[in-house]
This record gives sequence, structure tokens and C-alpha cells, in this order.
Amino acid sequence: MLNLASLCFPDNNKSCFYCCPPIRNPEADPLDNIEGRCRELRLNRKKLPENIALAEEISGEICWGLGFLDDAEQQAGCLLHPLRHGGDDLRHLTGYQFKCANALCREAMIFAELNQNEQQFCLSLCQEMDSFTYSSRSNPLMRLLAWETEMVKLIISDSNKDSSTFSARYGFLWQQLDFRLDGYLALEIAERGGVNFLRNNLANLTLYRDKLIVELKEIKSDLPPNALLDTPLIPTHKLAIPLSLSRLLKFGADLWELPAPSSKLILSRTEQTLEKILLS
Ligand code: SF4
Ligand code: SF4
Repeated sequence: MLNLASLCFPDNNKSCFYCCPPIRNPEADPLDNIEGRCRELRLNRKKLPENIALAEEISGEICWGLGFLDDAEQQAGCLLHPLRHGGDDLRHLTGYQFKCANALCREAMIFAELNQNEQQFCLSLCQEMDSFTYSSRSNPLMRLLAWETEMVKLIISDSNKDSSTFSARYGFLWQQLDFRLDGYLALEIAERGGVNFLRNNLANLTLYRDKLIVELKEIKSDLPPNALLDTPLIPTHKLAIPLSLSRLLKFGADLWELPAPSSKLILSRTEQTLEKILLS
């Protein structure tokens, strides 16, 4: 069952507001200009009745409906949400009700796939954070949840649920690796060789990953000529390969479409790379 509320609202002392507004620059982070954001959240709370009366469509980085939810200014979120208005959804006043109601980040989707104990451990990593630090994508929990569900589960299990050393032991995932490029290889290595092996072989992983990217860029020239002539190109994420491997093709090799017969070749090249890393 989906349990998104606890990642968005983990406790009474903080909340996440990263996805507001849904049309903002995706690189914008709640820790940029904290003082300015704080003033804006305070003012939006104070001026809510006036803002509702003069409702204007939002246009970019900020939304007049985003404000502190409590007098103590601990939680921040949507002041127009139906839960605050006896079931009336006022988000349409900003012009983006549909986007707002359907905003769901990757981290929340991964979190929803964890069991209750795993979720509790995840939230224990953020106990001392305020809403700004919690919402930031530099929050180690959010950075962990950018990885595949299997990797998140593996890391939580490996950690013995020790939150005090978590960032020191597993920070390599976001400090030295990139889930878009390394998601597939890192998970395979961790599953076959263990998390310790992965941690101790990061240089080899990135070296062989970069070599694999060079090979993947040439993959079309390794296909039989008729495979290119007779087969239409399909989006990379629809190839018969794991989704995490398709991200390496897209973000590493800049391959967004390939003929279907490429799948076998990609899997075999990737397997050879894995074997080299595991034997190194
Ligand atoms: S960014 Fe994700 S976790 Fe944060 S409020 Fe939006 S859906 Fe919830
Ligand atoms: S209307 Fe509410 S949910 Fe939508 S962007 Fe504004 S604060 Fe966020």
C-alpha cells in the first residue's frame, strides 16, 4: 500500500516542500536563499485571504499558495490543499491544480515500496532536520532514495539500521557515484560481491563504466547490417534491458533510441564489464 504521507510529512516538526511549485526550475533547492524563502513562506501564510481574493496564476519559481503551515513555522506546504479547506481544493486558483495534485517525486515512489521498518529507519536519518534541510536534495535520505528500490533495501539491510554512521558509510553512493550512470552496475556488484566490495572498488567501477560507455556508443556498428535496415528505432527505455541500464545508455552514452536487437548485445557487453570489475 502506498504510504507517501510519511515522506512528505514525516513528523510534526518538519515537512517536505521540494516539489512546489511543479513548474519551477528542477535544479532549484530549498537551501538556496533560506532567508528569502523563509520571508516568502511567512508572508504567504499571513496574506492568504488577500491572495485568495486576488488569485493570480503562478508563473515560475514561486507560488503564493506555498507557506508555513503552523505558527511555529516548522512545517511548510500547500495552504490551498483541500485538507486545509474542509475538502475544497483551492489549488486551481494558481492555474496548476492538476500538476499540483499529481506531483510525485521519484524519492516518494521508492519510499512507498519499502516496508514499514525500512521506512522508519529512513526517517530516523532525518530526526534533527528542519523543513528546509529535509526538503533539500542534499538530504542524504533523498539522495539514497534516488537509487533503485533494490539498492535502497540492500543498503538499509547492510547498515544494520545504524543511523549514526550511515552517511559516512554510504555517502559514496551520492558523493562518488551517480545513480543515473551507475544504478545498474553498482547494484549488480553489490548483490554479487557485497556492499563492502562495491565501496572498495569505486575507482574500478567508474573506470570500467566509462569504457563501457565508449563501447555502447559504437553498439549500432556492431549489429548485423540488416538489423539496422529492417528494425525501427525504439526508445531506449523500451529495450529488453533493465530500466537502470537504459539510464546509462541515455545519460552516459547519449543514446535515446536504438533498434530492438541491440538489447542482447548491450546485455552481453555489460556482463563482460561486470565480470572485469568483479575480478579486479
Ligand atoms: S518532493 Fe516528493 S517527498 Fe517532497 S513533498 Fe513532493 S512528493 Fe513529497
Ligand atoms: S498550489 Fe499548492 S501544491 Fe500547487 S504549487 Fe502552490 S503550494 Fe504547491
